[in-house]
Amino acid sequence: MNKPKNAPRRPAAAVTPASPCPCGRTEAYRDCCGPFHQGLATAPTAERLMRSRYSAFVVGDTGYLLRTWHPTTRPGSLDLEPAQRWSGLDILGTTGGSAFHTEGTVEFRAHFTLHGHADSQYENSRFVREDGQWVYLDALPSV
Ligand SMILES: [Zn+2]
Repeated sequence: MNKPKNAPRRPAAAVTPASPCPCGRTEAYRDCCGPFHQGLATAPTAERLMRSRYSAFVVGDTGYLLRTWHPTTRPGSLDLEPAQRWSGLDILGTTGGSAFHTEGTVEFRAHFTLHGHADSQYENSRFVREDGQWVYLDALPSV
């Protein structure tokens, strides 16, 4: 028997330019990750790139995710899970990743709900700066 799902269907929280940025910084989206997504500015640090990539998951900007992915590790295409609702980002630690570095790591936990169940994704991501722009390289193996 096919039971209907009881989880309430909530529309994705619409992110507007004046919304608090989904990445968790206090700035509005238009003053935080928005300009990065629109190609008007580039993330100055690995952490800001990481946050803007999380925000891109929230707003469904696969183009931004792909163009901030290192060409050697970038997938050919990216399909986001439409039922996945991202609900918050915790930055747990960073190494390097400043304007004075060419490499950096950002350890984070991203929270989401999927089909009514709360879950989270942990990753220690590696970023490199190429031609002045931070890009995502890969995930470090968990220890
Ligand atoms: Zn942001």
